Amino acid sequence: MATAENPAPSPRRRFFRAGLKALFEGVEHASASLHDVLPRAKRALAGVPTRASESLLRPPGALAEATFATTCQRSGECIAACPVHALRPLRSSDPLRDATPYLVPSQRACVVCEDLACMKACPSGALTLVPKEAIRIGLAEVHHGDCRRSFGEPCRECVDRCPLGSAAIGLDERGRVEVRQPGCIGCGVCEYYCPTAPRAITIQPWPAAPLPTR
Ligand code: SF4
Ligand code: SF4
Repeated sequence: MATAENPAPSPRRRFFRAGLKALFEGVEHASASLHDVLPRAKRALAGVPTRASESLLRPPGALAEATFATTCQRSGECIAACPVHALRPLRSSDPLRDATPYLVPSQRACVVCEDLACMKACPSGALTLVPKEAIRIGLAEVHHGDCRRSFGEPCRECVDRCPLGSAAIGLDERGRVEVRQPGCIGCGVCEYYCPTAPRAITIQPWPAAPLPTR
């Protein structure tokens, strides 16, 4: 299992592994349609930007995407300040996005550190200092078809690891994982620790998953 010291294999490698696995499963089980298989393979690549138009998970406190990229000075201060090395510079042919910071939670999640270090380090205002409850990196989404609980296993890694606790995630009356709004801030700790491949819980970029309070 992935740990903070031993992050999971790259999403791209997992994409191909999961895609092949899903396709073989589709052949073995004639009832599994492409409609079921392709979304699972697509999720294995979640968080890895391949086109300029794709959404990114930005650091906590980031301005809206439309202004973030033009405000960020590419100083790298937030990347250097993150105590768990969750932030990385984007390599892009699009000069508007190249060298801007982003997150891939399946490889390293934002742990919502006590200091909120990246926000304080940003010299440009692209990241603003907000209380941790007001952070909106994205929103967790549960894929129940992949969740171990759907197969009778008592897994609750995502629930127990969430730094925001029961305000953000819990179990519903049927024992299924339930992401709660507005508590979930999209930090990605749940995605990082989810043991399934592809992950049964993933972070959707903000504002693709708008919250009613912001
Ligand atoms: S549910 Fe997941 S993304 Fe949301 S706050 Fe908890 S760990 Fe972070
Ligand atoms: S960690 Fe993953 S498999 Fe386990 S309960 Fe959460 S979503 Fe399901």
